[in-house]
Amino acid sequence: MNVNTDVRSHEQGVVIKKTKGHYFVESGGRQVMCEISPRLRKVLVYPTADPHSLRPVVQSVREIEAVDPVAVGDQVRFIDEHDGRGLILEVLPRRSRLSRLAAGPRPLEQVMVANLDQVAAVMAAAQPEPKWNLLDRYLVSAESLGLQALIVIAKLDLLGDSRELLAEVTNYRRLGYPVLLTSAVDGIGLERLRSLLQGRISVLVGKSGVGKSSLLNALQPGLGLKVNAVSQATSKGRHTTTHLEMFPLDFGGWIVDTPGMREFGPWALDGEDLALYFPEMRPLVGTCKFGLDCRHAHEPGCAVVKAVEAGSISERRYESYLKLREA
Ligand code: GDP
Ligand code: ZN
Repeated sequence: MNVNTDVRSHEQGVVIKKTKGHYFVESGGRQVMCEISPRLRKVLVYPTADPHSLRPVVQSVREIEAVDPVAVGDQVRFIDEHDGRGLILEVLPRRSRLSRLAAGPRPLEQVMVANLDQVAAVMAAAQPEPKWNLLDRYLVSAESLGLQALIVIAKLDLLGDSRELLAEVTNYRRLGYPVLLTSAVDGIGLERLRSLLQGRISVLVGKSGVGKSSLLNALQPGLGLKVNAVSQATSKGRHTTTHLEMFPLDFGGWIVDTPGMREFGPWALDGEDLALYFPEMRPLVGTCKFGLDCRHAHEPGCAVVKAVEAGSISERRYESYLKLREA
């Protein structure tokens, strides 16, 4: 029997929530609680060298079996049993994936969210003070995954001396990142944030306390509370990945936010590729005296170091690069 022609007649939906062994699929405004067919696990076990994987590792069938083949955000074909339950038969090709290392002795990639469009990195203007190196870490992660990134500065009403913030904002804008200045208290910047989230699957990243839930609540009453409830439930150790969820925005689009996401860092980054994920360094890669072997640290004739000295790359961003390089 040909699996592909067999499933054409079935319904298509998006996985919006995952709890242990159950996948909630939304299709035409309905939610169906699905299991996955044993056959699906086998089908997905074989393609090991995935071109989207940052560090493709050849793994045995047994090892890959430990990782869930279906992620939140996946478009799936499923059989609807019409009693609120169903069976997922096929996962459609992913346009992006946010992964992390699955727990265990062997490094296994675990896809947390599929088909993400963008990463919204949230920093407070004050209380807590912005951590620009951490922001760069998020941006590098987004770049390495081929995702759009946008920078959201929250709590603008608490900003005192604005010089440092404005210098950073100007630089990030020059690099091509949208930067939104917002305040959940004043309502500043919310319209623009809404328009950038509309129609997309976005993940919010940023440390606890920077104002993510307040922003979400200001956009849509109750949304921040819902997201927080999940975040708290998922921050308890081993249950971290058994419950993931994305939330619909009334104006169109989806928000994902979990502690697992927040801590996402460039775990799969190849040291050699790092400069490619800094837009201001990318055009210089390969132009140093040592060509592609240059690590842009102490090498003579380094084009990146020259650009830092000339002021066209900010020293602060270059420090982030060096820190990430050590990590
Ligand atoms: P989260 O942990 O990132 O979700 O942060 P919260 O949204 O819970 O906010 C953390 C704290 O900052 C709370 O005490 C909020 O009341 C406060 N806060 C959030 N947004 C704003 C804002 O725009 N202005 C001010 N002044 N305080 C804010
Ligand atoms: Zn160099």
